[in-house]
Amino acid sequence: SSGSTPITATLFPGDGIGPEIAVAVKKVFSTAEVPIEWEEHYVGETVDNRTNSFLTLESLESVRRNKVGLKGPMATPIGKGHRSLNLTLRKELGLYANVRPCYSLPGYKTRYDGVNLVTIRENTEGEYSGLEHQVVKGVVESIKIITRQASLRVAEYAFHYAVANGRKRVSAIHKANIMRKTDGLFLKCCREVAEKYPEIAYEEVIIDNCCMMLVKNPTLFDVLVMPNLYGDIISDLCAGLIGGLGLTPSCNIGEDGIALAEAVHGSAPDIAGKNLANPTALLLSGVSMLRHLEMNDKADQIHKAVLNTISEGKFLTGDLGGNASTTDFTKAVCNHL
Ligand code: NAD
Repeated sequence: SSGSTPITATLFPGDGIGPEIAVAVKKVFSTAEVPIEWEEHYVGETVDNRTNSFLTLESLESVRRNKVGLKGPMATPIGKGHRSLNLTLRKELGLYANVRPCYSLPGYKTRYDGVNLVTIRENTEGEYSGLEHQVVKGVVESIKIITRQASLRVAEYAFHYAVANGRKRVSAIHKANIMRKTDGLFLKCCREVAEKYPEIAYEEVIIDNCCMMLVKNPTLFDVLVMPNLYGDIISDLCAGLIGGLGLTPSCNIGEDGIALAEAVHGSAPDIAGKNLANPTALLLSGVSMLRHLEMNDKADQIHKAVLNTISEGKFLTGDLGGNASTTDFTKAVCNHL
């Protein structure tokens, strides 16, 4: 609640529209009197040899120290000899799970109503372990790694999330009928964790069937947990159900309780610097961050103000079919607080 000692959180405004939508978040958070002090870090213009990327060591240390942060979109620098920004963040901060709440925005009409699900993607292994090579000419091999440790960790997080957020069911998404060993181990770990949470219903759904169910009736799902590749695909599919990547928040969970929330969209260079960007995804990512901090009252307040602004429809940005500026939209959200 306001009045308590403020929490320090790292803020990466990022590139392109990032700084504009970060200003919007800061404005809404301060209007709502959220007890958070931001520690701002920008992506460097040269490679920092200590991180071998454009991210400075200080910025990574800031997230490690604060354990909580909000990240705007970052443009991918072109060139060789450095690690990508997202890979650096993931490796350095041990970000093992990507969480995307996905709910219909009342007032923003899509093919589906009442979507309210959460995808939780294992983010460190599986098909994305980076182990690909040529066996002989014309034959290549890619190695899928599934470990008990990483599977238990993401399953634990999924059930913890379900309990903490009043969710009722966790569905493990898999293809263990074909990938017997790898997805088999993933499922075994999910089952083990499920036994510790009798109050949460647990089910297993084969990925292809899951896709069909999602497009026929996404309200059948609550929390979905899955290995890396499936999570990559399904989380975008779910974003599409509610109107696209521009509206979708996410949060990355890392080692030692780190949470780094981020908008799913990129730096939108086509509209950067024009006061046209929609800050909704970054605002809702901020809401995810507040829920992680168990500041649920503030989270609910901001969430409602964003939804009301959108459903009222008077101050919509261009991507939602309106002609309001970023600052108009932000003011409207503040007025709804
Ligand atoms: P993008 O998401 O930046 O843009 C795609 C389209 O969506 C554009 O027309 C853009 O104007 C629009 N859009 C995106 N966010 C919007 C918002 N908040 N409000 C209104 N319109 C919005 O994708 P891109 O063009 O493929 O990528 C641009 C850059 O961003 C690249 O350098 C890419 O690597 C980077 N990127 C970063 C992240 C990240 O940091 N997580 C994610 C995706 C892309």
